[in-house]
Amino acid sequence: MEIVNGIVQDASIGGIPLVSKIVSPKGTHNVRTLKPLSTSNGNPYYIVVHNTGNSASSADARAHYSWLQGVENNDFSYVSVHFFVDEDEVVQTCPVTEITYHAGDGSTGKGNSQGLSIEICENHNYPQAEENAIQVIRAFMDHYGIPIDRVQPHRYFAPNKKLCPHLILKSESAWQTNWASFQQRIQGADVAPDDDTQSPAKSVDEIAQEVIAGKWGNGSERRERLTAAGYDYSTVQARVNEIMGGGSASATPSKTVDEVAQEVIAGKWGNGSERKDRLTAAGYDYSTIQARVNELMGGSSGGSSSNSIAVGDTVRITCNTYSTGQSIPSWVKSQTHKVSQIKGDKALLGYPDGIASWVPLSGIVRA
Ligand SMILES: [Zn+2]
Repeated sequence: MEIVNGIVQDASIGGIPLVSKIVSPKGTHNVRTLKPLSTSNGNPYYIVVHNTGNSASSADARAHYSWLQGVENNDFSYVSVHFFVDEDEVVQTCPVTEITYHAGDGSTGKGNSQGLSIEICENHNYPQAEENAIQVIRAFMDHYGIPIDRVQPHRYFAPNKKLCPHLILKSESAWQTNWASFQQRIQGADVAPDDDTQSPAKSVDEIAQEVIAGKWGNGSERRERLTAAGYDYSTVQARVNEIMGGGSASATPSKTVDEVAQEVIAGKWGNGSERKDRLTAAGYDYSTIQARVNELMGGSSGGSSSNSIAVGDTVRITCNTYSTGQSIPSWVKSQTHKVSQIKGDKALLGYPDGIASWVPLSGIVRA
């Protein structure tokens, strides 16, 4: 890597296309601090990793450059970052040899004054953005001789203990374990993203039962905790409502989703549109039942011959969330993907040259 006055000269970093958008110094220098890093050789000693915390679809790496330039022009606040990484590219916004304000530990804190700051965007294909960030981190570790224990999350430096990067750290109770897993991914050249190694993902049903048992709090607390743990709040809440509603005394004893799904598998509800009509007429939500049927069929290995999917197959995604619980954008669903790996009840699609994301086997069909 060639770096001149803190600005990377290459067309890419670690294979990720680089766009150089250095913020122009203006006003009180609250983005462009113009202060050299306080390390003995002037080079970054730490790599500090963040999530942008902005899931708006337009909030990509270039948008964050424009935001930073606006902050600099208008003297809004002291905030700055060296690099933003999204699913497509990495954008440099400040020279790496200059102090940036991102870790919340002041102008002399180790994170700000000795760190190279990287923000991972979360506006679109987050798994891909995270993969790209790993390539960029590796490239800087190589270039500056930074060991893995000096690659740390914002949380490590922040006096206010901000849970950042929240999509990697996931929860207050498990952030250190989850960070260790991320460090392993950085180190393992061929390790594919796999959330299972860090926090065993529970099924929507399991989490919904925990919510009902009071383990996830109420209201906005529940929403925040579920989201931080990587679950899709609305999916879980919908299941909770369903279970709670199902338990209420009603004239016709309503069966659980599982019971009806088993009946469907046993052939009691017919096929195709007949099945849909009959289930709907009986008061069941067809798509919920059918999703559970697919889940049960996919779960039993070798159970159904037509639905079994193998590595190398081209598939289409029918579910709404990745195995990580993050929602799948419509453009990903509109494309076909190649199965790169199958593990347990999930498949890794498009790795390494695709979306590189784990998707439940029950949520894909052969294209
Ligand atoms: Zn942060």
